[in-house]
Amino acid sequence: MFNPLHNDLTTTINSVLEDRTQLIEIIKNPASPEAKAVLNLANQVRLMMVGNDVHLRGLIEISNYCRNNCLYCGIRRDNSSLTRYRMTVAEIVATAQTGAGLGFKTIVLQSGEDPFYSAKMLAEAIEEITALGLVVTLSLGERHPNDYELWYQAGARRYLMRHETANPVLYQKLHPGQSLEHRIQLLKILKEIGYQVGSGFMVGLPQQTPEDLISDLELLKELDADMVGIGPFIPHPKTPLGVNSQGDLALTLLMVALARLTLPEALIPATTALGSIHPQGRELALQAGANVVMPNLTPVKYRSDYELYPNKICTNESATHCHGCITTKIYQLGRTVATDFGHNQKWLRRQNHA
Ligand code: SAH
Repeated sequence: MFNPLHNDLTTTINSVLEDRTQLIEIIKNPASPEAKAVLNLANQVRLMMVGNDVHLRGLIEISNYCRNNCLYCGIRRDNSSLTRYRMTVAEIVATAQTGAGLGFKTIVLQSGEDPFYSAKMLAEAIEEITALGLVVTLSLGERHPNDYELWYQAGARRYLMRHETANPVLYQKLHPGQSLEHRIQLLKILKEIGYQVGSGFMVGLPQQTPEDLISDLELLKELDADMVGIGPFIPHPKTPLGVNSQGDLALTLLMVALARLTLPEALIPATTALGSIHPQGRELALQAGANVVMPNLTPVKYRSDYELYPNKICTNESATHCHGCITTKIYQLGRTVATDFGHNQKWLRRQNHA
């Protein structure tokens, strides 16, 4: 077994993750000294397992059309107050090229579930972006496995699709017409195709319990997620959950830290949602186990319309500005900006053994 973790550290990690009663207490008290100790431990594990590098991924939000009606999401089908947009393949590729010029090694294509794009159209975009020497990550939601297959053949190597919540009943309530079971099945198919697979969840969803959050970690472990995105739930006024309260900063940071302990080699972003609820949200996450940041590359004219939640940061800044601002923050933390592709190391080892 490949395990560079010092034995003592492994023992400490296990003592945190395996004592369920204690874990629930920590989750209930995310500002306690015990919780702070978990953040420090996660920071140590991060350094030991994935080093000091922070990986930058250029995010292009290609379309805000969505066929789904998720109760929390600002781009849900029923939000008629939103101006809808979708980028053409040429626009997507040109934007990726801008990203390459800024030094990004990975481009993330994200959208609502927009059936307007045929699998072939997106395969064309993926091929062209791959030909620029960039890695393509996709975050396009649920599609037919044949589409995932085609996009892998076109060159895409990572797929992000959060499980959102591991509580199947809550999942069902939040996602009309969808099921957790189906999502998990697709995540497993993505892994079988060969993708590095990203999952994750929101913290502070209405009715979410500490037990649910533990199930979220267990599901990430079961999926053997290569990437883990965790952010606070942020109520959007134009959604059915608009009057609910926002996810807690300290609890979200704690869950990021616990994700690092659960999957020591994972790529874990300091999410934009964390940066949106607190001015130092992303920096705090980078010191609690995170090692990825996803600056926004979406053309500014579309940005404010990709409003998953209100007060999303960086909606008025240019791609160049975002890149520069994030890079400065990373160096201020004593971290370095990665210059490699930033694949998951475990995935690379799997590739080499295949
Ligand atoms: N259609 C793609 C991309 C979804 S948007 C997919 O299904 O994967 C990306 C992420 O934004 C979602 O996975 C969700 O976790 C997050 N998100 C959406 N609305 C949010 C809100 N109100 N608060 C916090 N995060 C939200």
